Amino acid sequence: MRQRLAPGELLALALILLPLAVALPRLWLGYGPGWGGALTLLGRLSGMLGLAMMLVTAALSVRLPALDAWFGGLPRLWRLHRRLGFGAFMLILLHVLLLAFAALPQSLAMAVTLLFPPPADWLTWTGWLALLLLVVFLAPTFQFFGPIHYQNWKRLHLLSVPTLALALLHTLPPLASPWPWWLLATLAALALLWRKGLSPWLARRPYRITEVRSLAPDVVELVLRPERRPLRHRAGQFVYLSPLDKGLAAGRGEEHPYTLSSAPGAPELTLGIKALGDASRALQSVALGSRVLLEGPYGAFFEQADPGRKQLWLGGGIGITPFVAAARELDAGPGKEEEVVLCYLANRPERAYYLEELADIAARHSSLRLAPHYVSERGPLALDFLEQQCPDFRERELLICGPPPMIHHLLRLLAGAGVPRAHIHTEAFDFL
Ligand SMILES: Cc1cc2nc3c(=O)[nH]c(=O)nc-3n(C[C@H](O)[C@H](O)[C@H](O)COP(=O)(O)OP(=O)(O)OC[C@H]3O[C@@H](n4cnc5c(N)ncnc54)[C@H](O)[C@@H]3O)c2cc1C
Repeated sequence: MRQRLAPGELLALALILLPLAVALPRLWLGYGPGWGGALTLLGRLSGMLGLAMMLVTAALSVRLPALDAWFGGLPRLWRLHRRLGFGAFMLILLHVLLLAFAALPQSLAMAVTLLFPPPADWLTWTGWLALLLLVVFLAPTFQFFGPIHYQNWKRLHLLSVPTLALALLHTLPPLASPWPWWLLATLAALALLWRKGLSPWLARRPYRITEVRSLAPDVVELVLRPERRPLRHRAGQFVYLSPLDKGLAAGRGEEHPYTLSSAPGAPELTLGIKALGDASRALQSVALGSRVLLEGPYGAFFEQADPGRKQLWLGGGIGITPFVAAARELDAGPGKEEEVVLCYLANRPERAYYLEELADIAARHSSLRLAPHYVSERGPLALDFLEQQCPDFRERELLICGPPPMIHHLLRLLAGAGVPRAHIHTEAFDFL
């Protein structure tokens, strides 16, 4: 069983189909008989659908804390954003091909002229320019040329603004009812204006680092005190952190997502950070008292699970952070009735960062059962371990967080064990 569409996903679908629905009655009338007419119609439809998808993709980049819950959390929203972007790219390529094939029955010269008209035909040339820009900024996203540098990739995304403007210029003039396009273009423009122009000033909250706790070599927990109004979060949510410490070796002012490990409502926020690259390594020695900006909170990790079923949590390495927040919430609150099993997957005992604290909480609360698993002792997680520690795992909601290879391994394992995909909810600490 597949996951049900979230309300925001349904709305995005409706917005994508809106321009087509408005234009379709008129579109049917304007095309000649035979293959040529049918291909021209399909070419125009794929172009319209592609542009509508591009505009909705841009509108979805808005990144508003409360809005992401409508889409099942920001990671799921970004997945939709990426899929729509890729879909738009394919449809626009199809648009070009179909229009060229439509002219072929008349003559090859006609097809070539349709694609490459005289320079005075600026409508076609703006379309080509838009496609060229689209290729330039999408190619690195799909890693055609190997792994991408996150910050460069974000900068390249600014090309989406001229791309969309040119694509609209290419599409709008011949249209009889352009209002759906104006609607989508306005949503996209507002989203980009908020994201690039306003949110850096209005959405980020200043915090000060009051403590840097070492959890292991290359892993620290930052303790943050709000300078103004604190943000309120639920367990499992994450923030974008931009450190401002002038002495940082890398990543000053860059935003990176980190899950809040503090219990909701705690007076200070905490983030467990593992050195995975330049910016997170520099944070290991961030100056005490320096400022950071936080944007968020985002995500709906625990909210995806069916509340009517018991849960099994699987956290790998630093992917334990959402479960630490939930365990701390359990410890601070009235406690839970439902029993939760937490499998902590670590390479070896020294790499199980919050183990002692989690064991203490489990000792105080019978509703939390802790089951550490070490790859160095047992190899990658196998079914016998799950059968032993949580015999009813097939009936539970499974929440998994960690690095992408661990998540892929678990998804394969659980699919083989007959766990329905709809019971499994994942959060990968990967590019967002
Ligand atoms: C929802 C979410 C929650 C996360 N929570 C935590 C956490 O609680 N603790 C923690 O230590 N790490 C967490 N991460 C991962 C953390 O964001 C990256 O380790 C960090 O951004 C790496 O930046 P870098 O410059 O040090 O490394 P880079 O050299 O840029 O990259 C190292 C690795 O981190 C990934 N990465 C780089 N930039 C980003 C980015 N902006 N977003 C996501 N992944 C990126 C890359 O794919 C690469 O695998 C989380 C990631 C996501 C998506």
